[in-house]
Amino acid sequence: MTLTLLFSAPERIWPTYEDVLTKALENAGLDARLTRDASPEEVDYIVYAPNDALRDFTPYANAKAVLSLWAGVEKIAPNPTLTQPLCRMVDPGLALGMRDYVVGHVMRYHLSMDRHIHGLNGQWDHITPPLAKDRRVTVLGLGELGQTCAVALAQLGFDVTGWSRRPKGIDGLTCLNGPDDLAQALSAAEILVTLLPDTAATQNTLNADTLALMPKGARIVNPGRGTLIDDDALLAALNSDQIGHATLDVFRTEPLPADHPYWAHPNVTVTPHIAAETRANTASGVIAENIRRSEAGEPLLHLVDRSAGY
Ligand code: NAP
Repeated sequence: MTLTLLFSAPERIWPTYEDVLTKALENAGLDARLTRDASPEEVDYIVYAPNDALRDFTPYANAKAVLSLWAGVEKIAPNPTLTQPLCRMVDPGLALGMRDYVVGHVMRYHLSMDRHIHGLNGQWDHITPPLAKDRRVTVLGLGELGQTCAVALAQLGFDVTGWSRRPKGIDGLTCLNGPDDLAQALSAAEILVTLLPDTAATQNTLNADTLALMPKGARIVNPGRGTLIDDDALLAALNSDQIGHATLDVFRTEPLPADHPYWAHPNVTVTPHIAAETRANTASGVIAENIRRSEAGEPLLHLVDRSAGY
């Protein structure tokens, strides 16, 4: 029997996925029809990214799983109409993109690149940066993306501390976990990378109290989610030089409103949610494999724990 896959995602990405995902389904040995338009009762799987067309999953009573194209699932995980299993995106291409973004921005801070890019105004100001091994970097979140970034930074020689919800042991990193360890993780953060999901427990992880725990002049790279940061507290910390600079890729409201103080702040770099994108070539294989597993009666990969929110 031919499976019906509903591609419910913003229209602009359909051309990117139509051929590669169809091919990946064939390669997985699946007889499947990928479509943007199907009557709900005939849909077997839903490939999903947040879009206005599909908010009520109730009519999709025969769908066996919803496969998110995004790693962050805060827009769909709380949806009360969703009763099917929800899988988030774990894509090697996405992780490599995030690694490149994070390493690049950490290096910018570590080497004080801005001093030279913006010019020394004729002053032969000879300040040599420390070696990476003498630079303490903390990564909040040691999941697929945080761990990839933390390990890459450790391989470059940085003194890396990672923090997660549950205990972990990862070669080359100091691993901390749980609310009681957050102060230690932040006090080690000359440069902080935030790669936590947006859940009830992670909102405002960086607030006036926790920002005060960081070394004076610390730098922040946030490609996680905008809700991880109390914006007013960060602006105050930037204005008092408690935080030296922040590179922000994600925001509570996106696109970031034109009048938001982040745009004009001299110590903030705004990037427009481009840190890492799901790559159709690699992600299509992940989706096809999960459908193959489901059809073979094997457990789905990358299931979201709806009670934890990620
Ligand atoms: P993941 O694999 O689910 O990892 C999440 C990590 O956060 C895990 O280590 C988890 O701890 C930790 N965590 C969750 N709640 C916590 C809490 N209350 N206290 C401490 N640690 C907590 O997620 P991922 O694939 O790495 O993605 C992380 C986030 O990146 C996504 O949720 C999304 O928001 C963001 N993202 C951004 C972009 C972009 O372009 N800017 C692209 C993709 C994703 P455990 O390991 O103990 O579970």
